[in-house]
Amino acid sequence: MTMASDTEKIGNYLPGVAVPSEEGLNLCTHCGLCLNACPTYRVIGNEIDSPRGRIFMMRQVREEQMPLNELVAEHLYVCLDCRACETACPSGVPYGELVEAARAQVEAAGLTPRSWRLGRWLFNVLVLPRPWLTRLVFFAPRLYARFPWRAAVRRLLPRKLRALEASLPEPRATLPVQEAQSQLMPVSASAASANRPPAGAKAMALTGCVMEAMLPHLNRATESVLRKAGYTLAPAHTGCCGALNVHAGERDEAQRMAKALIEAFERSGAAYFVSNSAGCGAQLKEYDRLFDAGDPWHERARAFAAHVLDLSQAVAPRMVPPKRTLEAKVTYQDACHLAHAQKIRTEPRVLVQAAAGTNFCELGNDQCCGSAGVYNFTHPEMSNELLRQKLEQIEATGADLVVTGNPGCLMQLRRGVAERGMSVDVRHIAEVLDATL
Ligand code: SF4
Ligand code: SF4
Repeated sequence: MTMASDTEKIGNYLPGVAVPSEEGLNLCTHCGLCLNACPTYRVIGNEIDSPRGRIFMMRQVREEQMPLNELVAEHLYVCLDCRACETACPSGVPYGELVEAARAQVEAAGLTPRSWRLGRWLFNVLVLPRPWLTRLVFFAPRLYARFPWRAAVRRLLPRKLRALEASLPEPRATLPVQEAQSQLMPVSASAASANRPPAGAKAMALTGCVMEAMLPHLNRATESVLRKAGYTLAPAHTGCCGALNVHAGERDEAQRMAKALIEAFERSGAAYFVSNSAGCGAQLKEYDRLFDAGDPWHERARAFAAHVLDLSQAVAPRMVPPKRTLEAKVTYQDACHLAHAQKIRTEPRVLVQAAAGTNFCELGNDQCCGSAGVYNFTHPEMSNELLRQKLEQIEATGADLVVTGNPGCLMQLRRGVAERGMSVDVRHIAEVLDATL
C-alpha cells in the first residue's frame, strides 16, 4: 500500500497530493479495539480524538461528506502518530500511512496555523537539509547547555521556553559499571540471533540532522559499538532522513532527502544501513511510500529498506557478551517508532538486560512519552500529561536508569526528570552498549 498522490481530485481532497487510500480506510471495521491503546483518546475521551474517529473523518472527506477544513486539521494534529493503534488493530489498518497522507492534504490546503508553517519551513526546509546550517543553529544551545548557571536562567524563562530549555542535553557523567560476573549473553538472545550478519560486514551509519548537532557523542558511541560488534564502517551519511518532513506532510522535500540518502548508500558498497534513532529508522524502512507504485524510485526504496537496521538489530544478533554491567537498577522505555512502527521489542531488551545483569525491571507500559517529534512544542499540554504518566510509571519501578533508543524520548524524559526533581538518569542505548561491551 503506497501513499500515492492522485492527479485527479478524490472527494474533497486536493489533486496532486497524497490521499488516504480507500484500501487502507476500508480495512477499518470500527471494532474499537484500538481505542484504549490510543493515548489521546485515553486523555481526552472523545471519539474524534481516537484512531477510529480519525479514520472515519478521513473517509468522510474522501466521500465528500465533510469538507477538508480546520476541524479536520486540528484533530489530525492532536494525534501523536505514535502508531500504538497499529499494534492494537487486528485488521491491519495502516494508520500511520493514512494520517501522514491526510496531513499532507492539510498542509497543501494551508490549514495549519501560520506560525507553525513559518516555523516548519525555517526548520524542516531551510535548516535540516543543510548539515552545516543545522550544526550552526544548534551551536549556541549546545554551548549554553554546558554552563553551570542553567538552573537559575530556567527559573526566569516563560513556561513554554522553560520546557524547551530543560530538554537541552547537558554533558553527563560516565555510567557506573562493574566487571561482568559472567561472559554469557542471556538465553533470550537466541530470539534475536536469526540472520546474524557476518563478522566484518560493512555498515553505514546515519548521523542524522538534530542528532549530530545536539547529541554528537551518541553518534560516536554508535560507531564504537558497531566496531565492537564486528562491523567495518563506511563513512557515515551526514544528511537528514526527512522524517520530520513526512510527519509535517512535506512530501517533496522528504523525497529529495530520501533520494540523496539511497544514492549515498548504493555508492558506499555497504551491506547494512544502521540508524540509532527510532523515528529515522521507521522512516528509512518506509521510504517506498514516498513514491508512487510506477515510479522507479519506489522499487529502489524497497530494495534499500531491506538493508536498514536499528542499532539494536545490528548488535543483538552478533551475540557479543558484555565485559561490564551497569551498577544501577535499569528499565527500558519502548520508543513508539521502534515498538509500533518497526515492531522491534526483543533486540533492545536482550541488550539492555545483558548490560543490566540481574538488575533489570520492565516498565510495564509502552504508552508514548509525549515527545513525538515536535509535538511537545505544538501540543505542550497533552505532551506534559503523557510525560507525567510516564514519569509515574518510572517512579513505580524504582529504577535509577532509563534506557531508550530514540533521541526525542531521551530529551523529553530528561526534561521531565529534571522538572520533577527525580534522581533518575536517562540514557540512549548506544551509550549503555559502549560502556558495557
Ligand atoms: S497514532 Fe497514536 S495518537 Fe494517533 S490515533 Fe494512533 S494511537 Fe492514537
Ligand atoms: S483501526 Fe483497527 S482496531 Fe481500530 S476500530 Fe478500526 S479495525 Fe478496529
